[in-house]
Amino acid sequence: MTDIDGAVEHVSVVVLGAGPTGVTVATLLAQHGVECLVLDRWARVYPQPRAVHLDDEIFRILGRLGVADEFAAISRPALGLRLLDRSMKVLTEFKRETALSRNGFPQANMFDQPALEALLRTNLGRNPRAVLRGSVEVTDVADDGRGRVRVTYSDRADGSQHVVDADYVLGCDGANSITRARIGSRMEDLGFEQRWLVVDVATSAELHQWDGIHQVCDPVRAGTYMRIGEARYRWEFRLLDGEAAADYADLDALAPLLRPWVADVPACELNLVRVTEYTFRAQLADRWRRGRVFILGDAAHLTPPFIGQGMGAGLRDAMNLSWKLAGVLNATLPPEALDTYEQERKPHSRHMIRLALGVGRAMTAGGEFGNVIRRVVVPLLHRVPGLSAKIMDGVTPALRRSAFVHKSHRPRTLAGALCPNPVLAGGERLDAVLGNGFALVTTIAPTPDERASIERRGAVVHVAAPGSELAQWLRRGRASAALVRPDRTVMLTGDQLAALCDALPESSLPRK
Ligand SMILES: Cc1cc2nc3c(=O)[nH]c(=O)nc-3n(C[C@H](O)[C@H](O)[C@H](O)COP(=O)(O)OP(=O)(O)OC[C@H]3O[C@@H](n4cnc5c(N)ncnc54)[C@H](O)[C@@H]3O)c2cc1C
Repeated sequence: MTDIDGAVEHVSVVVLGAGPTGVTVATLLAQHGVECLVLDRWARVYPQPRAVHLDDEIFRILGRLGVADEFAAISRPALGLRLLDRSMKVLTEFKRETALSRNGFPQANMFDQPALEALLRTNLGRNPRAVLRGSVEVTDVADDGRGRVRVTYSDRADGSQHVVDADYVLGCDGANSITRARIGSRMEDLGFEQRWLVVDVATSAELHQWDGIHQVCDPVRAGTYMRIGEARYRWEFRLLDGEAAADYADLDALAPLLRPWVADVPACELNLVRVTEYTFRAQLADRWRRGRVFILGDAAHLTPPFIGQGMGAGLRDAMNLSWKLAGVLNATLPPEALDTYEQERKPHSRHMIRLALGVGRAMTAGGEFGNVIRRVVVPLLHRVPGLSAKIMDGVTPALRRSAFVHKSHRPRTLAGALCPNPVLAGGERLDAVLGNGFALVTTIAPTPDERASIERRGAVVHVAAPGSELAQWLRRGRASAALVRPDRTVMLTGDQLAALCDALPESSLPRK
C-alpha cells in the first residue's frame, strides 16, 4: 500500500467497508489464513444505532468469529414478535425460544449495532492477518482482467492518493456501494419504499411490556416497539406524507406516539438518545460479482427491517463466501467454486426480503386489501404449511442446489440446511469440535482408510453416538452421514461413507 507514484503493494484481499459485513468477512478470511486489508471512510464505528435484532443462526456466526460470550454480555434474548392491531390487541404471535436453540443460541437477540460493531472490530484487531485502515475514501475499483484488481483511495486527513493491488476485492460498502457501480450491477426494485421515524430512548424506568418485538399493524401509523437492552428502547413509526423527523425532535412531540408503551412513566425519566428518518427499501442487486470483484451485505441487498434480517444477510454472505475464497486462494478449490456464492445467497436473500415484505404489508397496507390481511390472513398464519418452519420457528430456508449443495430428490433432505450445533458428550459444542473446515458427521464409524483419507484433506470426522441429537437429526433426514461445509451448511448426505469421502473437496483450510 503505497503512494500513487511509488511501487504498488499487493494484498490477497481488499475488503471495502468496515461495517458488520466487511469486518466479519475479513475476520473469517484471516481465520482461514488469508491476508486482507479493510478500508473504511470512518476512523471509528459508525455511531448511529441501526440494527437491533439478530437470530440464532447469526449468533452462531458470531460464535465462529470468537465473540459469542462477548455478544451475550451486550445482548438480550427476546420472546419473539407480536403483530398487534391499532388498539394493541394481539393478532398473532411468533414465539422465539430464549433458551438455547438447535444452533446453540437464543432465537431472537436484541442489541445495539454500534456496540456489536465495536466488539467485532476489537476482535478483528486480534488477528495480525487483517489490517483495518480508517479515514480513507475509496474512489475506484478496477479489475485489469489479468488477475489483479486495483483499488484507489484517498486519505481523508491529508488528501494523499494511494493504490493497492489485490487478488480479490470484496465490496462491503453498503447501500450506496461504489463497488456495485464498478461491476455494472444494478439494484432490482422489489416494490417497497416507505419513510420511517426511528427513535432510540434510554430509561431505567420499567415499562412493563411483553418482552418481545411489538409490530403495530395500522395503515395510517404502523409502528414497532422493542426493548434492546437493560435500559435501552427502540421505536419505529411510519411517517405520514408531509411529516419529517424534525417534527418529532423532542419528547413532547413524540408523546402521542410513545404513549401506548410509556403512559405510566414521567417524561423526566425518559432520555431521548436520537430521532432520525430512514427510507426502508427492498432491493436486490442483479449481479453480485464480476471477475475478481464481489459485493456483499447492503451493497448486494436491502430489506426493510420488519423481521430484523438485513445485517444478518450480510453476515450470511460473509460466511458463505469466505471459505470458498480462501480455498480458491490456496488452490484447494477450483475458481468455479466462487460461482456458487451468488447462486446460493441470492435466492436466500430474495426469500428473506419477501418474508419482511409480507410482515410489512400486514403492518401498513391500506384499503380493503390491508383489512383482509390483518383481519383474516394474519390471525390464520399459524395454520399455513411451510410458514410454520420459516417465520414461526425462525429457521431460514435451505440453500438451493449448487456444486456445494447436492440435493437428492428424496423428501426431507438435509442438504442446504444448517447442521445442528449440540453440546457433545465432552461438554463442547459441535462447532468447537469441528473447527473451521469441512467435516463428516456420521453414525457409521469410518474405516481407518476412510478416516485417513478424510483427515488428509483437512476435514474432521465426528461419529454421532446412537440416540444423540445428531444421530436423530440424521435419521430424520433419512441418512447415516452428512458432509458438512466450513459454513456448517450440509453439502451432501448418504448412507455410503465412501461416496461422501469422494465428494469431499481437496480442502486444507486451517481447522482452527
Ligand atoms: C432503522 C434500521 C433498523 C435496522 N434493523 C435491523 C435489524 O434489527 N436487524 C438486522 O439484521 N438489520 C437491521 N438493519 C440493517 C442493518 O443495519 C444493515 O443491513 C447493516 O448495517 C449493513 O451492514 P454492511 O456492513 O453491509 O453495510 P454498512 O453498515 O452500511 O457498512 C458499509 C461501510 O462501508 C463504508 N464505505 C462505503 N463506501 C465507502 C467508500 N467509498 N470508501 C470507504 N468506505 C466506504 C462505510 O463507511 C461503512 O462503514 C436496520 C437498518 C436500519 C436503517
